[in-house]
Amino acid sequence: MLANFANKVIVVTGAGQGIGRLLCQQLSNAGAKVIAISKSVEKLKELKESCPSIEIISVDLKNWQNTRDILSKFPQIDGLVNNAGVAIIKSFSDLTEQDFDDTFDVNIKAVFNVTQALLPKFKTGSSIVMVSSLAASRSFDGHTIYSATKAALDSLTRSLALELGPRQIRVNSVNPTVVLTKMGRDNWSDEKKSGPLLAHIPLNRFCEINEVIDGIAYLLSSKSTFVNGHHLNLEGGYSVS
Ligand code: NAP
Repeated sequence: MLANFANKVIVVTGAGQGIGRLLCQQLSNAGAKVIAISKSVEKLKELKESCPSIEIISVDLKNWQNTRDILSKFPQIDGLVNNAGVAIIKSFSDLTEQDFDDTFDVNIKAVFNVTQALLPKFKTGSSIVMVSSLAASRSFDGHTIYSATKAALDSLTRSLALELGPRQIRVNSVNPTVVLTKMGRDNWSDEKKSGPLLAHIPLNRFCEINEVIDGIAYLLSSKSTFVNGHHLNLEGGYSVS
């Protein structure tokens, strides 16, 4: 159960599935006016059916100008969650220029674009939350490009915390390890693959979607009004093991 978000206008990207979808549903149930952005119209329609008060917007965030045109019509907002992301996991030698561009376009360029385009819309006291990853600061097999984008995202988080702080806009990130979305469960159910990683997590399990949502909700809420420029690692103690 999230804190009270009554009448708060919160924009969430990557709302079609996984973390973004459940986040939109829970924020809406907590009273927020949610504007849900994603690519697939079908998935957004399903979200709207489950929570009719959510406003849904379909746009490919890789399209810079299209995105800006849509965002320019938004109302004043209290929060933004930059959650949309892609992960192309391959060994370094197999990664292509297209993989590089596709990942950087969504995971960092689109975040830059969305946040800058929405700048005139943030109310005093707003909060921006980046959905980053533990891979921003730790190395994992096959994560070369993904990690680089998330490291860039963490850098953007810190720069914006500095620059937007005087306007009373806070900027933070959540940095989970593997999250047990449907894809996460499918990808990590093989013990041979998950065992070595779990051995480094003192809690000996991966992150549940609700645990990411609780972190995001905390950073969006009035419970974190002096937290700015922070990366909230959600990794069961991986970093101390
Ligand atoms: P997911 O299930 O793959 O969902 C990603 C969402 O982003 C989808 O709804 C997708 O839209 C949307 N999206 C992707 N590219 C887009 C684009 N060009 N324009 C508009 N929307 C786009 O991902 P997730 O697992 O929930 O992850 C959400 C965030 O958490 C990501 O930033 C990810 O890097 C981060 N994260 C995930 C994990 C994990 O283990 N799952 C761990 C650490 C961090 P469509 O539905 O239309 O494709």
